[in-house]
Amino acid sequence: AKARGRNGYRFYAPSMTGEGAERLRLETMLRRSIEKNEIFLNYQPQVEIDSGRLIGVEALVRWNNPELGLVAPVRFIPLAEDTGFINQLGKWVLYESCRQMIRWQEDGLYVPKIAVNLSVKQFERGSIVCMVADILEETGLAPHRLQLELTESVIMNTGDALVFINDLHAIGVGLAIDDFGTGYSSLAYLKQLPVQTLKIDRSFIKDIPADSDDEAIAIAIIQLGKSLNMSVIAEGVETADQAAFLLRHGCNQAQGYFYSRPELAQAVLERWLGAGEG
Ligand code: C2E
Ligand code: CA
Ligand code: CA
Ligand code: CA
Repeated sequence: AKARGRNGYRFYAPSMTGEGAERLRLETMLRRSIEKNEIFLNYQPQVEIDSGRLIGVEALVRWNNPELGLVAPVRFIPLAEDTGFINQLGKWVLYESCRQMIRWQEDGLYVPKIAVNLSVKQFERGSIVCMVADILEETGLAPHRLQLELTESVIMNTGDALVFINDLHAIGVGLAIDDFGTGYSSLAYLKQLPVQTLKIDRSFIKDIPADSDDEAIAIAIIQLGKSLNMSVIAEGVETADQAAFLLRHGCNQAQGYFYSRPELAQAVLERWLGAGEG
């Protein structure tokens, strides 16, 4: 029943068990994943293109279940959101991310900042601001070294988004808009938000230089960020050509397989320790 997918993820054919039964099984297993130590984080470096310097990492959650193998976030994040488990998971991810920043520092590696993804469901609960503040205090990570990544859907679909976002800004954490350009945020909204960073979505990067429309969109986002005094980072950079294109058009920050895949904390340490002024 199992077959190894392209990324080493294993898939189950829905016909084997029925989609409903499969989902229920996954849900039950997911609920126990944290206590069973099946959840861990990978970290993907964010790099300054011209110098190659490490400017940060993005924390990406992983679920390794003994029966299911490595389950892709696109499969279990939506499930976690539907069942409410995302609150527990999101808290775990945030705590672990902040702790890891301190551990790297203790091991001699200074990682300037860590980016952590937040789900829209975490905002619906309302206590997000306290949770972030508590975790920062408990771990001792300076607020400006944490950057929360919000998608446009978080901003547009949360009634009190502006309030939460302003409160998060007030405690000193950085904010980024993830997958920028794929959602439906209005540009007027953008102007009001205390957001410092736009992340150009991978879908606009992947066909550069073949697709001139994507090139035009990437350039437009870079210019928009500049005129709003925001920094712009491109995600999904896989080739030297793409990096050169970005640099040429004024975007000096990138994340993607060209620089590094998401990897374990130890691998980040080994690769970047002593790799320059970092
Ligand atoms: P995202 O936030 O847009 O994260 C970037 C995704 O692109 C990651 O997939 C990463 O592994 C992948 N990626 C990075 N560079 C490249 C590249 O050069 N080429 C290609 N083809 N892919 C690249 P991943 O880790 O599977 O995560 C998928 C999505 O799951 C994330 O998209 C994010 O929306 C969500 N996610 C991951 N971790 C968390 C988390 O802790 N909390 C929440 N709420 N969502 C998470
Ligand atoms: Ca992200
Ligand atoms: Ca993306
Ligand atoms: Ca995303």
